[in-house]
Amino acid sequence: MGTQLVWFKRDLRTYDNAALTCAATLGPVMCVYIVEPSYWRCPDASQRQFDFLRECLRDLYRQLKACGVQLQVVSGEVTDVLERLHQAQSFSHLHSHQETGNGMTYLRDKAVAHWCAAQGVQWQEHCQNGVVRKLPSRDVWSDIWTQRMQQVQLNMPTLTPAAWPWPAQSWPDWESWGLPPDVAPHRQTGGRAQALQTLQSFLQERSGQYRGGISSPLSAASACSRVSPYLSWGCISMREVVQATENVLRQPGLDSWTRKGLVAFTSRLHWHCHFMQKLESEPAIEHRNMHRGYDGLRENDSNSEHFERLRTARTGWPLVDACVTMLHHTGWLNFRMRAMLVSVAAYPLWLHWKDVGQWLAGQFVDYEPGIHWSQMQMQSGTTGINTTRVYNPIKQAQDHDPQGIFVRRWLPVLRRVPDTWLFEPWKMPPSVQEQCGVVVGTDWPEPPVDLPAATRQAKALLHKRRQTPQVREGKQAVIEQHASRRGKPFSKRRPSAEPTQAIQAEWDF
Ligand SMILES: Cc1cc2nc3c(=O)[nH]c(=O)nc-3n(C[C@H](O)[C@H](O)[C@H](O)COP(=O)(O)OP(=O)(O)OC[C@H]3O[C@@H](n4cnc5c(N)ncnc54)[C@H](O)[C@@H]3O)c2cc1C
Repeated sequence: MGTQLVWFKRDLRTYDNAALTCAATLGPVMCVYIVEPSYWRCPDASQRQFDFLRECLRDLYRQLKACGVQLQVVSGEVTDVLERLHQAQSFSHLHSHQETGNGMTYLRDKAVAHWCAAQGVQWQEHCQNGVVRKLPSRDVWSDIWTQRMQQVQLNMPTLTPAAWPWPAQSWPDWESWGLPPDVAPHRQTGGRAQALQTLQSFLQERSGQYRGGISSPLSAASACSRVSPYLSWGCISMREVVQATENVLRQPGLDSWTRKGLVAFTSRLHWHCHFMQKLESEPAIEHRNMHRGYDGLRENDSNSEHFERLRTARTGWPLVDACVTMLHHTGWLNFRMRAMLVSVAAYPLWLHWKDVGQWLAGQFVDYEPGIHWSQMQMQSGTTGINTTRVYNPIKQAQDHDPQGIFVRRWLPVLRRVPDTWLFEPWKMPPSVQEQCGVVVGTDWPEPPVDLPAATRQAKALLHKRRQTPQVREGKQAVIEQHASRRGKPFSKRRPSAEPTQAIQAEWDF
């Protein structure tokens, strides 16, 4: 066998890495990560992700060194880099993992397949999670996920290095691409060491807080596992996380909160791949409605002022603005607050999921296109198969931050506003505004719309659309392709069974 080229993508680890293990058995190995300017220019990419990636690559460099090979980082478009490299040092095989990425990486992978075929290079794309390429039917998906999660983890291989033909390159400067700066000062740090530490601290110390702690933005940062960016960038494999969790669940004497928390956590690991599978099966859902019957619902009503207010944390609804501020600083939010933000965007602000989704994707360090776009559509009511859930940001604040600790932490300007008006400052009498030093319209923005009226109107529009024949008729096809299956395969259920029952469970925490 000739030289093997391992192309790292979102699989930044040496342990349980099928691409690396397979390459090691076939011949001498070169390892490359390609920094693609056209990827980083995509509207869903950002500097905070780029910085996180750099930390992951530093760690990967150390891991590969321990296996006997140097990681090479090269800037350029993938087919150009492969072409130049092949000329300088030919290789017989290219190894990578299957990627369920955005539209750009989908087209790039097609170009890579074309290039490999033309050059006679064998491209082996390995599975790395529960997402199934060319899935014949959703009915079999869950069983495949379970089988894959039970497979034995792959040890770090010992590698024979192949000669690398170029001098080492330096890390490209974000600024040199002329892209907008975006640093999240309190984001999680990248790398496998951090991933393992985060997982262990969750499994051993924090999982007892999971049930009951993940919905409030006050407790979520420590009650949630926080493994999402490490799964998204592949610092740790899904199988490792699933099996490590099962090992803890087998321990005798586990208290019931921890047990329940870990069971709930495991089901979310399943959802991770379930949602990614939607994009894998239908890449177009990044750009168009999952249910085409919703086409035209919001597309022509874009309101740039509403969008700007949301992005800059100036909606005037304190919990919304506190969440956006936290997101700016940390690159992370818990599920409920993400869902609440999208709900506010989609209903009272009546914004299309596409624009909001691109902005949020760049904000999330854990951006995983398959989860992200499916969730964006689900929370915006365009999947046609999920119950519409509209979150009221005032009620959410009362339920999950009753003393206003979270809101005051992220919005210091509101610190002196009395509890009575904290979540609705626009209702404060002028005398109180003066007393606490927060004048609405000057120190604090008035909301752009009347929340109850705008929400009512949005719900009515959605409801009207849902009654149309094209929405009713198109629903079954979406269910067949994308809905989760519980119990019997969907095709074997009695026709009278209400399919939305099965789907509702995807929502509920
Ligand atoms: C609009 C929107 C966009 C989202 N975008 C992303 C994204 O880009 N990347 C991402 O990883 N998650 C996304 N999520 C799902 C969820 O909010 C995050 O996975 C979670 O907040 C990450 O924190 P954690 O790892 O501590 O989660 P935990 O609660 O500890 O969950 C463990 C893991 O399970 C998976 N998971 C948890 N909840 C979900 C869910 N609802 N759907 C699918 N998988 C889930 C994630 O991999 C997560 O890391 C999105 C949710 C919404 C509503």
